[in-house]
Amino acid sequence: MKILTADYLLCCDDDFTIMKDAAICFDEKIIEVGKKDEVIKNNPYAIVKNLSPNSIIMPGLVNTHVHLEYSANQTTLVYGDFIKWLQSVIKNREFLQRSCDKKCYNDAVEQMLQSGVTTFGAISSFGGDLEICYETPLKVVYFNEILGSNPDFADDIYKDFEKRLQQSFDMANDTLKPAVSIHSPYSTHPMIAKYAIDLAKENDLNIATHFMESKAEREWLDKGSGDFYNFMKNFNHNPKPMTNAMSFLKMFEGLNTVFVHGNMCNEEELEFISKNGSLSSCVVSNRLLNNPVLDIKKAENKDVKITIGTDGLSSNNSLNIWNEMRAFLFSHNEANVIELSKNLIKYATINGAKALGIFDGGELKKEKNADIVSIVLPNSITDIEQLPLELILHTKEIKSGYINGERYV
Ligand SMILES: [Zn+2]
Repeated sequence: MKILTADYLLCCDDDFTIMKDAAICFDEKIIEVGKKDEVIKNNPYAIVKNLSPNSIIMPGLVNTHVHLEYSANQTTLVYGDFIKWLQSVIKNREFLQRSCDKKCYNDAVEQMLQSGVTTFGAISSFGGDLEICYETPLKVVYFNEILGSNPDFADDIYKDFEKRLQQSFDMANDTLKPAVSIHSPYSTHPMIAKYAIDLAKENDLNIATHFMESKAEREWLDKGSGDFYNFMKNFNHNPKPMTNAMSFLKMFEGLNTVFVHGNMCNEEELEFISKNGSLSSCVVSNRLLNNPVLDIKKAENKDVKITIGTDGLSSNNSLNIWNEMRAFLFSHNEANVIELSKNLIKYATINGAKALGIFDGGELKKEKNADIVSIVLPNSITDIEQLPLELILHTKEIKSGYINGERYV
């Protein structure tokens, strides 16, 4: 049993409680959170570690969306336009996958780990990232992705998907949970999507999907026109969308789906998402591909649970979640900076944990898993209200980290 004490403790509960001169007592689970003197008095046999001045204790962070298999990308993929980027991914995906050796995977995960991420949602297209997801001390929801627009190839697609899913079942343990991802409504035939969703339901697996990321996707699903029409013409003389937005969404009814992006969602779609899952917002990716960023006011008016995803290094220059939060903060100048900072920390902790749903963390509260990180600010703060903003402005790496009570940083 251990006790950590610090100047401040962020519970990341619904009320966003910040405690001063606080402590946390834990083993695998959190035993008590409260005032330093009381926690020490109530747990006399615990080993006490007083963290350095200006330290902050908070829950481990959650990155709800990352593609590790593209971690070799630095200057290969083309930014500035969603379709051009997609074409460059298709052209270079095998090269990028081949180029990501063990060190490349390690470096990618290390960026998340050092930034304080204790849980992430990995979207796996080929299974190349399974080993690193198994080896890392971090908790991983491992989303095996399926896509394919031609039902004639369905048998081969199912075979490949089932093989990858089985491999992830074989490696599953307390920190690695197999899950299912449907790539998107423009790339996955509804029959193939339904097959994978049914599999997820039968096996009680988490599920994720990209949805309404670009203007091109909106136009294509609504009208069968726009940039996607020209793109699809390369494969088909008379291309038509395989589904529309609402029919696609309805396949996920009653599940706790991580919908990724959602920048182009209308109100009806946001309402559906709010009742059937959460939204992973990836602002750096959106910016690089010239997509709009999420309208947070519109999403919050519908009570959508927003979470933070870095996306992969295929559309980001960093997997550090604080870099992502800083980008989010500066991309949303319509929102009050103090209020948004507070919300951002909730998006990256409690909301992310609820979205991924399996690991009971994201909050410092009795009986939650002891996924805890500590951060040291450069100086003391003068106003507690500023703390979330100061954290986002100054944090690059954590000072220490615990997963299920075990120290890993
Ligand atoms: Zn993605």
